[in-house]
Amino acid sequence: MTNTTFFIETYGCQMNKSRSEHIAQVMIQNGYQLIEDKKRADILLFNTCAVREHASEKAISNIQKTIKDLNKTSRYPIIVIFGCLSQFLKNRLVQRVPGAQIVIGTSNIDHIPQFIEEHTRKKKKILDFNLPSSSQVFDESGYLRNSSHISAYLPITYGCDNFCSYCVVPYTTGPQRSKPLRTILTDIEKIIQDGYKEIILLGQNVNSYGLDLDLKNGFEVLLQAIEQNFHNSSFWIRFLTSHPKDMRPSIVDIVKNSSIMAHYFHLPIQSGSDRILSAMNRGYTRDHYLKLAKYIRQNLPDSGIGTDMIVGFPGETERDFLDTLNIVQEVHFDQAYTYIYSSRSGTAAYQLPDHLPLAEKKKRLQFLNQTLSDIHQIKLSNWVGKKTKILIDQIEGMNSSGRTTDNQRIYLPNTNFILGQVISVVVIKTLKGKLYGELVLS
Ligand code: SAM
Ligand code: SF4
Repeated sequence: MTNTTFFIETYGCQMNKSRSEHIAQVMIQNGYQLIEDKKRADILLFNTCAVREHASEKAISNIQKTIKDLNKTSRYPIIVIFGCLSQFLKNRLVQRVPGAQIVIGTSNIDHIPQFIEEHTRKKKKILDFNLPSSSQVFDESGYLRNSSHISAYLPITYGCDNFCSYCVVPYTTGPQRSKPLRTILTDIEKIIQDGYKEIILLGQNVNSYGLDLDLKNGFEVLLQAIEQNFHNSSFWIRFLTSHPKDMRPSIVDIVKNSSIMAHYFHLPIQSGSDRILSAMNRGYTRDHYLKLAKYIRQNLPDSGIGTDMIVGFPGETERDFLDTLNIVQEVHFDQAYTYIYSSRSGTAAYQLPDHLPLAEKKKRLQFLNQTLSDIHQIKLSNWVGKKTKILIDQIEGMNSSGRTTDNQRIYLPNTNFILGQVISVVVIKTLKGKLYGELVLS
């Protein structure tokens, strides 16, 4: 056993966060001790993200500042940078953070303890930017525990084969590799034993789960196996992200007939314009998306649809943007993450002329967010008077709150509940963009 301590800082998506959990376990198994105070740690691990330039630059300056501040107090921890940004920038990142001793991409993260040992022995920088290959099995044990210990994020695939023209992920994470079905079922068993009440299956495109394992309609096979094995357990299963090109009505049908699957679909549309969708290489049309949304709304009227959208993609005209606003009005999204297009070198869209001024992109983003927010207000008022079930996952100050199966948060003005409890409530009012409810006995 060693007394060497480590700290992990994570940037980016839930997938990154769950990978950090995995690395923490690997480090602990190798005798290192996880601590929460980065100023005292002997080893600092930074798990990075490359999706948007602004966030990537911010991460680099945070890392630079951390090293500088520590060195000022005569502390010289071993600095390890790994993940998508290292994979994306490779030696350019090494040059920009000269204080880092180990810089590796997304492939050999399980070898971090060996890299640390090698660095300590040989006193030399370790760099490794091999990209994961399709034959490299994705069988990582980690899952992400949220702070309330109610929800666990469980990756079921890693990598992406879709090559949307704006996106770095296929270049930084390699081809899609699906976790073996058996491993997923064992992971779920363990997560339930650990007391979690919600499991969120993660992948860049969960609907294509199993394609690399030669499983046809593999996601349906997986969901059915989960249903068969766990239908008597009291927890909810959620999944993200559903790619509209691979989302199938049969997946909606399985969710509909299940007692454990949450009625929520995160289905990023990105744009409402066919011209832009094609330039983005998304592989579906606006009409295809609308048909999917209609199928979901008709078959599961109480379900939520979430989305991601990008404004200011190269060549996006006023007309294209209006198409996006128009689809927002048609689908009435329940949740949306919106971004200004960020040009990333190495992607296909990087080559496209991008003449739209930033001020216009910001204006479009603001307009889109306002439209989404107006619709959200209407949707919230429609909740008033409805009875529903919520999973209590936050108790703070004088309030408790929980989420419905369609991912809507409802607040309760008292704390007589237990985290993880599922209760019936009636929504009594909406105030400042929030829903408030009361317990009903039934
Ligand atoms: N795999 C998911 C999908 O296909 O929708 C999304 C994963 S991506 C890491 C999360 C979101 O980031 C995307 O849905 C997209 O809206 C946004 N995104 C990705 N690349 C971007 C870029 N270059 N500029 C702006 N937003 C981007
Ligand atoms: Fe990026 Fe497209 Fe893959 Fe999502 S599906 S990770 S947006 S390339």
